[in-house]
Amino acid sequence: MLTPNMNYSHLKSSYLFYNIAQKTKAYLAENPDKHLYRLGIGDVSLPLCDAVIKGLHTAADDQAKADTFNGYMPECGAPFLRTKVADYYRARGLSLEDDEVFISSGASDELGDILDIFDRSNRSLIIEPAYPAYVDANVMGGREIVHLPSSRDNGFLPLPDEITDAELIYICSPNNPTGAVFSKEQLKVWVDWANERGSVILFDAAYEAFIEDETLPHSIFEIEGARTCAIEICSLSKTAGFTGTRLGYTVIPKELVRNGMSFNDMWVRNRTTKTNGVSYIIQRAAAEVFTPEGQRQIHANIDIYKQNARTIMKALDELGIWYTGGKNAPYIWLECPSKMGSWEFFDLLLEKVQVIGTPGEGFGKCGEGFFRFSTFGSPEDTQEAARRLVSLLG
Ligand code: PLP
Repeated sequence: MLTPNMNYSHLKSSYLFYNIAQKTKAYLAENPDKHLYRLGIGDVSLPLCDAVIKGLHTAADDQAKADTFNGYMPECGAPFLRTKVADYYRARGLSLEDDEVFISSGASDELGDILDIFDRSNRSLIIEPAYPAYVDANVMGGREIVHLPSSRDNGFLPLPDEITDAELIYICSPNNPTGAVFSKEQLKVWVDWANERGSVILFDAAYEAFIEDETLPHSIFEIEGARTCAIEICSLSKTAGFTGTRLGYTVIPKELVRNGMSFNDMWVRNRTTKTNGVSYIIQRAAAEVFTPEGQRQIHANIDIYKQNARTIMKALDELGIWYTGGKNAPYIWLECPSKMGSWEFFDLLLEKVQVIGTPGEGFGKCGEGFFRFSTFGSPEDTQEAARRLVSLLG
């Protein structure tokens, strides 16, 4: 008799975004004339920049002619794009070989798939509140999860203590949902800790392009010792508006070896078995992101989201509400006023001022009492939402 993967029965139902959608729908059914100010979305609202659009058109034309047509792409990524991504790291002074970069169709795919190269007996440490996919991918694989809660006391940037123990460690910096960013000194503590144990850090750098304080690390490989203990997973989704276009990249240094097994070699073997590469058209367009003009254009878009962040932060400062994020990340994580629960605060904002955010409790127990605002909405809606917050809570 066939047995399904029973680990799926241990998944908690992902009620967070479902509940938000249900509550919003019910409110609009009763108040059809009201406009909602959406600061809850994790998706981008600006279109792809011109350089990427031109790249898409050129690549589509290439596919129309026999002499420029591409069939299957190399499984680990087109050489032209692997070089561009490696150059992006090298421009920051990091030494990296092109074949340490793997092109993927997004960070979510990689965060789950990468578990294939680690034995099932390894425990995964997840800093909470966390991006929900980390927990779910580990539950599906039947892996033991070590939860490391964080709090306002450590600025949502916890460090390992004497009792922390795990073989795989997920670190997301800049963080979703808290917007907090680890300093180089803090990451060095994690890197040394991982090297001492032979553990591996899975570093999610999906929001690195939002860092404006140049003392903060964009990559785990800025930390000495990281090449023997870390894999970095990144994405163009938020950086360049690729949420629907799909492209990411993963860096696995050749020094990352355990029991004589090279994780870089294992990932080559994995990709050549389990994928047939990312589409030529998308890789060509993604290469445009790494040109000087592409960088200028994507940063012009990021600046619009950053202006949204400043608008929300100004309102929270005026209200004396504690928060992290916003400056070096597209998320703002605030403490709900008057010790309100995060769903209670959600209901209040929806009913009184039609502002939608994301209750912190949905990102793990220690998120209760906190709330996430995203800065990916339109500037007009963000400004009006900020004005409404001040009028309600001021
Ligand atoms: N990692 C984090 C922390 C995210 O917030 C997201 C998307 O919201 C992803 C990864 C997924 O990115 P992608 O669109 O490349 O799958």
